[in-house]
Amino acid sequence: MDLSYDVLLIGGGITGLMAAQKLSDLGLRVALIEKQTTLASGPSTRNEGWLHRGTYHASSIRDRTAAIQVARRCIYGHKQLRRFSPEAVEDADVLPLALVRDKDRLSEVISRWDEANVRYRPISRAEAERIVPDASFKKVPGIFEVADVSFNTRILYRKLFALAQKSGCKFYLGSEIEVIDGQSVVTRDQTGERTTFTASKVVYSSGIGAKEIFRKRHGIDLPIRYWKSHLVVTKRLAHAGVFFLDPHEAAMMHHGDVSIIGFNEDALLCAEPTYDVIAERAENLRRGIRRIFPSWDDRDSLNVACVKVDYVTDLAGARSLNIAISEPIPGHVVVLPGKMTEAPYLTDVLASYIHDRLDNPDIALRPCDEFPILEASTTREVA
Ligand SMILES: Cc1cc2nc3c(=O)[nH]c(=O)nc-3n(C[C@H](O)[C@H](O)[C@H](O)COP(=O)(O)OP(=O)(O)OC[C@H]3O[C@@H](n4cnc5c(N)ncnc54)[C@H](O)[C@@H]3O)c2cc1C
Repeated sequence: MDLSYDVLLIGGGITGLMAAQKLSDLGLRVALIEKQTTLASGPSTRNEGWLHRGTYHASSIRDRTAAIQVARRCIYGHKQLRRFSPEAVEDADVLPLALVRDKDRLSEVISRWDEANVRYRPISRAEAERIVPDASFKKVPGIFEVADVSFNTRILYRKLFALAQKSGCKFYLGSEIEVIDGQSVVTRDQTGERTTFTASKVVYSSGIGAKEIFRKRHGIDLPIRYWKSHLVVTKRLAHAGVFFLDPHEAAMMHHGDVSIIGFNEDALLCAEPTYDVIAERAENLRRGIRRIFPSWDDRDSLNVACVKVDYVTDLAGARSLNIAISEPIPGHVVVLPGKMTEAPYLTDVLASYIHDRLDNPDIALRPCDEFPILEASTTREVA
């Protein structure tokens, strides 16, 4: 079978699904191929489902300018996702608590929040103990009610999938790439049937798979690193979410009867993106959970490992986890969000990038479109 599209998306995690919905809504002919038989089976569901609102990243990123920028993108993403899929917000009437253990950092954290427009309300220890009675707030000088929420990602993906299909996007699940030749991509599905897709733009929303595709199909080693992190899934520990902003402390969000807890800045650089659990790392996280919930009964809990993708300009540099839009080969665009919450910002920039290149001649040009400038570069990095 031979099929022709404006855009072929490779990978159906949050980035691919959101791009599929937005690009097909713009009237582009879009298809998405996913190698697994289900959508979003990787990091897009193996995460805390924490719809950030700038609270954490404004504080955790060392460089102040970068921290404010990421916090603002998270606020942008938070607002867009809540508007797009309000039914996916969990416990909308409960505000989580953000904790700061290091009192020397408190004034810097608050000044960053003010600059980035993060919402917070300082509360007393007594008030915190009323909200989360089982937690220990000893030696926690900073306690704030904040506006982050838990998000049911499956509802979001269901809506993106349904609306993209409604706008004409075609989905091909269980499709393995066999050949990429120019703007043609040949896939084989689970029944062995081959399909040739031709597209003006091939967009790699393939997350942890992007590096392998480029190495195997284009002979290019993308500057991507993998960082493994762990999560613990356990029965719900509190009414409200509770998360520390300090490194090597726990951050917990809730989904129905279940809590999902991660460990701040525990990421381990790894050569390949595998999901095997590293026992020692999982134990560090468990110790972190007990620091806040000393009577936690961990018998029915589960360790989960997952991998973040870091697209960098300098492979030896510090961990960036920045968003990226890059066109290493003309016609072939890589898109990676640093966080799920940044996917709205990333896919809006992507939609504008694709629109510039696949223009609709029925819409009049603006004076700025006709203004003569030097030939635009085919590659743009978004940092
Ligand atoms: C432990 C952990 C916790 C996190 N918690 C949060 C959080 O709470 N909030 C937040 O905002 N962010 C969080 N993140 C970050 C977030 O999960 C990721 O940034 C986001 O999910 C990446 O989405 P993606 O669609 O770009 O990639 P992915 O989710 O990796 O999706 C890529 C898709 O492409 C497919 N694919 C790969 N190769 C191919 C191929 N060759 N052909 C076809 N398809 C292919 C994959 O099967 C997959 O479905 C967390 C990350 C980790 C690791």
